[in-house]
Amino acid sequence: QVQRALRALTIPLERLHIMKGHMMQAMRRGLSRHSHSQATLKMLPTYICATPDGTEKGDFLVVELCQSQVRTLLVTLFGDGNLSPQMMYKTFDMPEDIMQGEGEALFDFIAQCVSQFLADSNSSVEHLPLGFVFPFSCRQTQLNKAELISWSKGFSCSDVEGKDVVQLLQSAINKQELSHVEVVALMNDTVGTMMTCSTEGRPCEVALVADKGSNCCFMAEAHLVETTEETSGRMCINTEWGRFGDDGILSDILTPYDECVDEESSSPGEKRFEKMVGSLYLGEITRHVLIALAAEKALFTGSSVAVLKERGVLETHQVLEIINIEEGTAVTKRALEALGLQPNERDCSRVQQICRAVVSRAATLYATGLAAVLSYMCQTRDMDQLLVNVGVDGELYRGHTRFEEILQSVTKLLAPECVATLLPSTDGSGRGAAMVTAVAVRLEAQRREVAEILAPLRLNRDDLVQVQTLMRQEMELGLGQETHANASVRMLPTYVCHTPDGTEQGEFLALDLGGTNFRVLVVHVTEEGIRMASEIYVIPTAIMQGTGEALFDHIIDCIMDFQQKQDLMTHTLPLGFTFSFPCQQVGLDKALLLTWTKGFSASGCVGQDVVQLLREAAERKQHAGLKVVALVNDTVGTMMSCGYEDPKCEIGLIVGTGTNACYMEEMRNVGTVEGDEGRMCINMEWGAFGDNGCLDHIFTSFDRVVDDQTINPGKQRFEKLISGMYLGEIVRHILVAMADKELLFHGNPSPKLYTKDIFKTKFLSTIELNGLALRQIRQILQDLELNASFEDSVLMREVCHTVSMRAAQLCAAGLAAVVEKMRENRGLDQLSVTVGVDGTLYKLHPNFSHWLQNTLRDLAPNCNVSFMPSEDGSGKGAALVAAVACRMTGP
Ligand code: ADP
Ligand code: MG
Repeated sequence: QVQRALRALTIPLERLHIMKGHMMQAMRRGLSRHSHSQATLKMLPTYICATPDGTEKGDFLVVELCQSQVRTLLVTLFGDGNLSPQMMYKTFDMPEDIMQGEGEALFDFIAQCVSQFLADSNSSVEHLPLGFVFPFSCRQTQLNKAELISWSKGFSCSDVEGKDVVQLLQSAINKQELSHVEVVALMNDTVGTMMTCSTEGRPCEVALVADKGSNCCFMAEAHLVETTEETSGRMCINTEWGRFGDDGILSDILTPYDECVDEESSSPGEKRFEKMVGSLYLGEITRHVLIALAAEKALFTGSSVAVLKERGVLETHQVLEIINIEEGTAVTKRALEALGLQPNERDCSRVQQICRAVVSRAATLYATGLAAVLSYMCQTRDMDQLLVNVGVDGELYRGHTRFEEILQSVTKLLAPECVATLLPSTDGSGRGAAMVTAVAVRLEAQRREVAEILAPLRLNRDDLVQVQTLMRQEMELGLGQETHANASVRMLPTYVCHTPDGTEQGEFLALDLGGTNFRVLVVHVTEEGIRMASEIYVIPTAIMQGTGEALFDHIIDCIMDFQQKQDLMTHTLPLGFTFSFPCQQVGLDKALLLTWTKGFSASGCVGQDVVQLLREAAERKQHAGLKVVALVNDTVGTMMSCGYEDPKCEIGLIVGTGTNACYMEEMRNVGTVEGDEGRMCINMEWGAFGDNGCLDHIFTSFDRVVDDQTINPGKQRFEKLISGMYLGEIVRHILVAMADKELLFHGNPSPKLYTKDIFKTKFLSTIELNGLALRQIRQILQDLELNASFEDSVLMREVCHTVSMRAAQLCAAGLAAVVEKMRENRGLDQLSVTVGVDGTLYKLHPNFSHWLQNTLRDLAPNCNVSFMPSEDGSGKGAALVAAVACRMTGP
């Protein structure tokens, strides 16, 4: 019979695994917007979004509302890792009538306690932040905003339910003329435990309370907490896991003893998990086992057990004493005799076994819950292994080493991927509340400084409208015959006068020089669509920076090699040349190089006709079968390739290494080319916008440093705010500034952060993608040798966000000027147009295109602009320009 009872109290491992799964499921339900209201685990958001990092400093006041007491506590932190906080306590007994009296009286009493405590403590600080430990069920919407849902624990003060208790306390405090005391945080007692157990380099992100009741809180990924608006970073979630099982999910492990305990409790059917593990109940469970066994004559035979019928006679602390076997059964005997039982030796050892089983089961269940939380954290952070401190408080844990052993070993068994270090919390709720308060104050100060640093990078709508207006002005200047020479936006004619109409056909060669690679392509334009074959060729640096002759000879060599490979030697195909450097074009096949960029510096080319240079090289190489019909910029190629799919595509945009745009302008507006009929594509070269100083007011100190360190300071100023070559650098300089102000990396970043170009623009894409726990982000931080705390990575993300958002918005302001001009040119109320886009930043950044489109919609509401990412615009586009040219000149 005893064995049967013990077996009922032992839960097999596979059951525990299943239960862990149920617990995780219940956690997810509690966090989900849809199922939250019916969930057993309430998973309450606490609005505590960071754990202490040891730099917290200053005086902090805590008021804790307890059963029949108010506890006040003054903690002084020294910014020394919180190793030796200085603390002063005082406890005030609460008059009986206050708990059921008027709300106002309750808060007045609390405020009076604060006032008296401060008078005694001679505190003389100007501003004293206060943390309020309020262990009742609240609907919290901010760290310092929480409506009481309902009283419990014997409290029933009037006019408090439904009200913001922070406000009520603050008003009462103000009445005491203590306006320097500011209530900055309200919290539940569980959270405090977590806040006191962080150690060097390993934050405490879970807390377990194994006391009369049972609860657990942990830091969850904020975007998973769908019941709040917070999406960035982490937030401490109060699981309220005592209610686990209230939906019946625990029925297969509940014993008849548990049922008796539940029936006799004040809230039958509720808090089923808590009733199996809370120290308020372990004595009761044991008592019911003893009653049952006595009834079966397996215990205390021949003596009266009537005393066991009384609720609460066996207390948990006695159970804990009994299982302490160091003194054999002496303690057990004494304890049982004290109850009025007459145990023999065998009774004593059996009772001991039973007590151990009850406590072991509780420890095992705690471990299962903890394992669920740890695995959930590990999973949602996308980690292979989770290393974490777990703060533990409560009499079960403190009173009993066996409890700790079981908790430790079973947790490891159930969540082998997690390494949890259990740490006892000392005065969790009080000191922890001070920590919460201190962290809140630290974060607030940090937020203010961060906002200050980022403010110049945040453009408002007026700023953007102004950029749009300036761009429009510069466009007009660039187009005007007289003003052209001095415009920062050069508005170069391309001699491309038509976009494809879909009837183009034929076979073309194309060259692409000026992007990341040099390529040669053959493009078949047919009725069914476009087929291409291409080959990438390397241009050695020696040739990029050697003589022009050598460069163009090399290009011809590559073309010949390609033609041989493609068996095209005998064909003379029209050739389109994508040449992505600024050119003064005087005809479709005549373009004077204005300047080299992107690492090219071949001599004897600037000022020369690039097409001619290519033809001369062909002659030198005796390659007769080359017919260059068009030279195009990559923006034009992009527009043309998208134009082949969508006739409304009359704009080309590049946001890659650099940024540039082109669009179809009315010939009558192009003062730099003869003729008024029709349209011509204009290569804006908008990267240089602002080189005349017109954008100086939006450049920040970071932009100026980045510009200073480029090979072309003062040039391409607009581009340097937008494109892939620069965004990473801007971010890096901001991070350095923040580290210098000790807002990041504890003021101590790795020396690598000071290396130019170490922070790639593709990092922005990774970091801005949702979910900061991503493996890739940790890899980036590791590569940079940055020891980033979780808060550091949240802040880094904000920096990246700010920089790329500004880039997208500025790009939108530029485009707004373009589409509005086109709309006006055509005398339309509403313009419908497509932008062909290329460039890795546009294509791979998670938010750039979205922000660009939204801002453009806002700035140019009368234009309906669609975006079409181009596929291989520079290759296909060049061929299409050649094809259109052939179509126009006729066969
Ligand atoms: P190009 O402009 O030379 O033709 P791309 O359009 O491929 O070349 O753009 C290359 C630029 O894109 C690089 O300078 C880099 O900064 C940026 N980049 C590369 N990967 C990413 C990414 N994942 N997210 C954002 N930007 C990126
Ligand atoms: Mg490109």
